[in-house]
Amino acid sequence: MSSAVVVCTFDEGRDGVPTGAVETLALAREVADAIGTELAWLIVGPLPARAREVAGAYGADEICHANDSKLAEFKPDLCVEAASQALGSLAPKLVLFPQTFEARLIAPRVGFRLGAGIVMNALGVSADGGTVKVTASAYGGNTRAEYVLSGADTCVVGVLADMLQAEPRGQASEPRERELTVNLGEAGERIRVVEQAHFEGPRLEDAQIIVAGGMGLGSKENFRLVEELAEALGGMAGASRPAVENGFTDASRQVGLTGKITRPVLYIGAGISGASQHMVGCSAAKTIVAINTNPDAAIFRYARYGIVGDALEVLPAITKVVREAA
Ligand SMILES: Cc1cc2nc3c(=O)[nH]c(=O)nc-3n(C[C@H](O)[C@H](O)[C@H](O)COP(=O)(O)OP(=O)(O)OC[C@H]3O[C@@H](n4cnc5c(N)ncnc54)[C@H](O)[C@@H]3O)c2cc1C
Repeated sequence: MSSAVVVCTFDEGRDGVPTGAVETLALAREVADAIGTELAWLIVGPLPARAREVAGAYGADEICHANDSKLAEFKPDLCVEAASQALGSLAPKLVLFPQTFEARLIAPRVGFRLGAGIVMNALGVSADGGTVKVTASAYGGNTRAEYVLSGADTCVVGVLADMLQAEPRGQASEPRERELTVNLGEAGERIRVVEQAHFEGPRLEDAQIIVAGGMGLGSKENFRLVEELAEALGGMAGASRPAVENGFTDASRQVGLTGKITRPVLYIGAGISGASQHMVGCSAAKTIVAINTNPDAAIFRYARYGIVGDALEVLPAITKVVREAA
């Protein structure tokens, strides 16, 4: 197993597949092939319902399962301990974490314990012989950096999996399965969850149509215009970070680097300036429509259709037309 590429996940995910596992496994398979090594999927905690099916479809050679009754719920300190022990025994060349919110807490700490080179916010990973190259979003999404990881024995990379596409392999593999023993006897949990955020219903990441509003909307009351158009189009409402921070809508709606990475067919951005940190979360949309009073707003550089105008007038006008056409 030494020098293998390992994908590490620790959530059960929606639909029995950990968030970002599919895209990260597909990427890891390519890297493992380039290095000429095996691909293992390390699952920390309960086995997700569709783990075996997904591991085979995306070419894993082995599923390594590190479980303990203390891992039944996500506990960051215990997860770091378990992942570090398991990865320590696997001694991989490269560890890829799908960069979920939780993985931001886990991956760097695991990397430190392994004495590994660490890169987060990766958009691509490739290998040339024993050298791993990572392209990552840097400076808050304003630029991309290329990292060459050649020094450390092990490299840990957080992958922005939502930015990647994944196709199942033509022929499914039949991964071996291995139980790894982790000892959490001494490990304690210092992080206390005060209140668990629960977001129900469809996910913004899966929406085909998103109408998003920014600070140009001016208030929570006006943000209703965004929600009404989204509703009329059968889509979902999204928002910029300041719009969320100012209470226009809840955090599950935030699009961007520190929010959701979306890939809809249609993205309508109203009263959004088009900062790079926001556009990271929607620039993969097939069609972007921008509504902004400022003709020089950056979002127009990304938009296929631009409307220079007041969102408070333009949004209800479009909603009216859509409703009449329905
Ligand atoms: C590390 C880091 C991470 C970040 N992550 C994110 C992220 O995940 N998501 C995110 O969105 N931001 C993120 N940001 C913040 C980002 O840099 C921008 O500040 C933010 O996206 C701007 O939000 P906005 O466009 O709503 O507001 P503003 O920049 O204030 O823009 C408002 C826009 O509305 C227009 N406008 C004003 N009135 C009207 C009107 N009546 N009708 C139409 N248009 C009007 C203005 O011309 C302007 O273009 C991050 C920043 C950092 C540093």
